Amino acid sequence: MAGMLYLVPTPIGNLGDISQRCRETLEQADFIAAEDTRVSLKLLNHLGIKKNLVSYFEHNKAAKGNMIVERILSGETCALVSDAGSPAISDPGEELVQQCAAAGITVCAIPGPCAVITALSISGQSTGRFCFEGFLSTAKKSRREHLESLKEEQRTMIFYEAPHKLLATLQSMAEVFGSDRSISLCRELTKLHEEVVRTTLGQAIEKYTQTPPKGEFVLVVAGAAAPVKETATASDAAQRVLELTRSGISKKDAIKQTAQELNLPKNVVYDAAIHAEE
Ligand code: SAM
Repeated sequence: MAGMLYLVPTPIGNLGDISQRCRETLEQADFIAAEDTRVSLKLLNHLGIKKNLVSYFEHNKAAKGNMIVERILSGETCALVSDAGSPAISDPGEELVQQCAAAGITVCAIPGPCAVITALSISGQSTGRFCFEGFLSTAKKSRREHLESLKEEQRTMIFYEAPHKLLATLQSMAEVFGSDRSISLCRELTKLHEEVVRTTLGQAIEKYTQTPPKGEFVLVVAGAAAPVKETATASDAAQRVLELTRSGISKKDAIKQTAQELNLPKNVVYDAAIHAEE
């Protein structure tokens, strides 16, 4: 019988965030696939777990993925961990999930620490609709193109960012979204120096020009304002009623149709039509 693949999230700072279920899954797995075995070994030592570790990272994922799938098909259970947070989210794992799914292997994702969701919840930005944009390119041109594609985006946008790229990213964002756009910079989440700076792009640039940024950042940027809908005026309504009656429609039906088309109350259209006749 085939084994299973478990996606096991690990703390993004506070070691207390490892859940009982994650701990048990790591204990019970036949082997653990880790982004960086040295990083994961520290966590396993902290948890008192001794387990066979294999490395699975960006540059060996093609070959290692096949080997992991073979082992699972032969009956072993694998727990995949990344350095911190949820595997497969801007971390290795996406392809392994695809390979396992294609091979008919059951994949189980355990919920847990994830920087994007932690940042969104604490950001103070609108959380109803959002999009996750991962890391922007280090190359100015592609970074700019990526941001241009988001110019009209009305949902809250979330980005991962490294401190040494932060200022360049904020500058590109201000150029595309405008320096008044609201942003929450969520830094060192769940760690001793956790900080959330809720400000504008322009003010964030000033702040981090004076004090160079340190630590890990998630940027939560407000979406663009919805375009203002033009509301039809009374004279638009009167004009439309006239057009319709001239085409042979009864005044009653013309008023009803105009109200629907222009999204106006029927009595407003009626008053406008009567007033135009006076
Ligand atoms: N898969 C992980 C997750 O979703 O939590 C993210 C891995 S990604 C390679 C690392 C990025 O996540 C960092 O560059 C930073 O943008 C963000 N990040 C991770 N831990 C963080 C923390 N404690 N505080 C703020 N941002 C963090």
